[in-house]
Amino acid sequence: MIKTKGFAAKAPKAPLAPWEFERRDVGAKDVLIDIQFCGVCHSDIHMARAEWGNDQFPLVPGHEIAGTVSKVGAGVTKYKVGDAVGVGCLVNSCQDCASCREGLEQFCEKGMIGTYGSTDKDGTPTQGGYSKQIVVDEKFVLKIPKNMPLDKAAPLLCAGITTYSPLKHWKMGPGKKVAVLGLGGLGHMALKLAVAMGAEVTVLSQSDKKKADSLKMGAKDFANMSTSGSFEKWAGKFDLIINTISAPTDMNAYLGLVKRDGTMVLLGVPEKAPQIEAHTLIGGRKSLAGSLIGGIKETQEMLDFCASKNIFPETEMIPMEKINEAYERMIKGDVRYRFVIDSKTI
Ligand code: NAP
Ligand code: ZN
Repeated sequence: MIKTKGFAAKAPKAPLAPWEFERRDVGAKDVLIDIQFCGVCHSDIHMARAEWGNDQFPLVPGHEIAGTVSKVGAGVTKYKVGDAVGVGCLVNSCQDCASCREGLEQFCEKGMIGTYGSTDKDGTPTQGGYSKQIVVDEKFVLKIPKNMPLDKAAPLLCAGITTYSPLKHWKMGPGKKVAVLGLGGLGHMALKLAVAMGAEVTVLSQSDKKKADSLKMGAKDFANMSTSGSFEKWAGKFDLIINTISAPTDMNAYLGLVKRDGTMVLLGVPEKAPQIEAHTLIGGRKSLAGSLIGGIKETQEMLDFCASKNIFPETEMIPMEKINEAYERMIKGDVRYRFVIDSKTI
């Protein structure tokens, strides 16, 4: 076993604190990664606080991992020591079901193995990227393109792919009107990616604080949904709403902003399930959909797309010991737009 250090929630809702634990030895198909940076996703907060009913603790969160390969197993063919690599939200799957064979490992019919909070193939709990090192099967490791700084690559491994995948699936491009609901880590990547794909993008936010940034990142319009009359003003305007809100909200009101035959895709997973009124969907033949991260092939495609178009997240680097403060700031929507942990500080 490999001894490593990280920061863990030792019990639901306990603040994250230093923790020493073990990784499995590097198997024939595994690579050992020295982690340099890890992005902070709102899912890390939901999981560390057991908001999704998860009960595996201690829990080391983190699924936006970027680093360099420091050891490879005898059977590894894709990577060598020194390569810049990334790991996102999944570290294994059955690799045999219809979804896996289509490159949609996130929908593995036997259940994908998440980077943290899951049970690994050997029966041990998986632990995430708020740590110094990780051992991962090479099939679930991504190649970080040459011109991409590692601290900017990290947030793409979840926030990037989670927004890229639905934009592609619903064929957003020229002539399409996209609304990004909630401008946080996922939201700001949805904005940049949808603009790069040629769609017309409007940001829907809770205040005016993020207006200037939204326009700078390419939004055509910005709406402060807390002002009176805003739901009437934007009613029926969007082909696709990318909903990234992490807290319970009135989903029916936002469905009113979808065009006839349009879709709202849920990415955010608030602790409490939304209550949907049928008439908000049937009057306009609207769809309410969901999307979960993306498969390994599509994640590589997204990284290469971002590298070719110079699309990078806006990040604020933090030392590991600031993580609990960072969580509180994220809950208040006070992050511009993704915290990234400098793993040297662990
Ligand atoms: P984040 O950085 O905290 O951003 C969430 C944004 O939602 C905030 O910046 C805020 O935007 C808005 N918001 C928060 N509370 C709100 C409220 N009470 N009412 C209205 N708007 C509110 O979070 P994130 O990392 O982007 O993650 C967002 C959600 O997606 C989380 O639930 C996370 O677990 C989930 N997620 C899902 C997937 C997937 O595969 N589906 C992958 C990753 C994350 P404004 O300040 O602009 O209002
Ligand atoms: Zn995430």
